Amino acid sequence: MIIVMKQNAQKDEVEKVEERLAEMGFGPHRIEGTGRVVIGAVGEQKIAFPTGLEVLAGVERVVPITAPYKLVSRQAKETSSIIKVGDLEIGGKELVVMAGPCAVENEDQLLTIARAVKAAGAQVLRGGAFKPRSSPYSFQGLEEQGLQMLETARRETGLKIVTEVINPQEVEMVAGYTDIIQIGARNMQNFSLLREVGRSKMPVLLKRGLAATLEEWLMAAEYVLAENNFQVILCERGIRTFETSTRSTLDISAIPQAKELSHLPVIADPCHSSGNWRLADPLSRAAVAAGVDGLLIEVHHKPAEALCDGPQSLTPENFEQLLAAVNPIAAAMGRSLPGKARPGMAEGL
Ligand code: PEP
Ligand code: MN
Repeated sequence: MIIVMKQNAQKDEVEKVEERLAEMGFGPHRIEGTGRVVIGAVGEQKIAFPTGLEVLAGVERVVPITAPYKLVSRQAKETSSIIKVGDLEIGGKELVVMAGPCAVENEDQLLTIARAVKAAGAQVLRGGAFKPRSSPYSFQGLEEQGLQMLETARRETGLKIVTEVINPQEVEMVAGYTDIIQIGARNMQNFSLLREVGRSKMPVLLKRGLAATLEEWLMAAEYVLAENNFQVILCERGIRTFETSTRSTLDISAIPQAKELSHLPVIADPCHSSGNWRLADPLSRAAVAAGVDGLLIEVHHKPAEALCDGPQSLTPENFEQLLAAVNPIAAAMGRSLPGKARPGMAEGL
């Protein structure tokens, strides 16, 4: 259930409600909305309505949440969440663009790509240092050395960093290098990992599992929020269907649905969903038209030589063209693209 406090509720009234909830055996989660406080009460307890909380000072109403996910749901928070990563806001009017190689391969490769995506307008550099590969014989990533290269790229370009963590024991170490922690599709239901990134209080990019329903994806996000970490960005990266002409199928309908069911921002990854760089442009336009808050794009200056996911990686030139093509769609949706890829750029096309 959620306890909606009155607009003018005092701090001590909020604290009283939280104390009462703790006595009732709930873990209270304070959600500071625009202008009013909402308290999420989650726990295993079955509760009868009325709960007695209704009469406490400052309480406006007590609402049961019917969805299996609670803190993640729009019932708990009506307004869309904006995730702040330093001075970057994810979920606002401006779309976030995250771009970079699938894997960090060496410092030259990373810096070349980082400078190129920055010049095109990206705000976040992606790059895997721990790669969860389907085959144990494929390149597994440079691990901590790769994280150090990401740190160098951040220092050089000012880009924020997003990188994947695959093991709960490494969360603290990865958190020391990155701005956003990525949970990959294969780990979406690794519950101890989800709890650990929740406890880290770092912004989390949560990719949808290859075979996860929308509800399972939101439940995975709930694990992070249940640790009092509300900084979650959902990423639709395609699901497995019977179609074999693409690597996965981008579930366009999941975008407006996730945004309707949850207050969390949603971004799309057209590269992993298609496995084909040529499809990244039309899929990005479709995702932006469907209401995403940003894009995650794989970019490599030499895709043919990439150690990982070359066929779905865009060259810096293709990436720039993709942003230019997305630009009018973003404008039609009342959104804008960052940096160089701002409204007006597409007019030059
Ligand atoms: C990635 O972003 O490089 C990645 C491995 O993605 P996913 O977990 O979506 O397969
Ligand atoms: Mn990849």
